[in-house]
Amino acid sequence: MESLRTRIIDVQRKPTKCPQCGERVVEIIYGTGEMTPIEFVLEYRREGMVGGDYIPRNPPIWACSCCGKRFRKVLPDGTPAPVKVKMLQNLRKKPASLIHWTDSSQEVRLDSESHHRYLVTVTTELGETETLNVSAKNEKEAVELASSLVVEGMVGVKGIFCLKTSVEEIPLQK
Ligand SMILES: [Zn+2]
Repeated sequence: MESLRTRIIDVQRKPTKCPQCGERVVEIIYGTGEMTPIEFVLEYRREGMVGGDYIPRNPPIWACSCCGKRFRKVLPDGTPAPVKVKMLQNLRKKPASLIHWTDSSQEVRLDSESHHRYLVTVTTELGETETLNVSAKNEKEAVELASSLVVEGMVGVKGIFCLKTSVEEIPLQK
């Protein structure tokens, strides 16, 4: 099994998905101090990986939302590309309505008709399987939500990232 240690991958542009696990690649937000991923999500209501206060020379600016692989932008000749790092202090907060999750032990509350309900089954690197009942705009967002809840330790499993996810929409009752 691949080491959990973060590895930096050189890329010329933002990968559409992680070459390691296929999950979404998000921006790394620097200047987050001791802020945890869940604090970041709750306060800023947007996706992103907390990068802390240490900004290395030639910093990686993207990260996988699931396995934590990081990506550094390089020029075609492989040398580091000049990049502007995303700083927390320059970030705009998104509206609270974007936060929208639940688990199977709770009632699902739908704040808007644009949300659908999904059962997302996640399997962690330790082989634990948990089904989350989330509401989201679409399948992709439902999976992202479930993945981030695992990463943030909100699900009550010991694993720290999801190896596998599957999603199924729950039909709305009339
Ligand atoms: Zn990944």
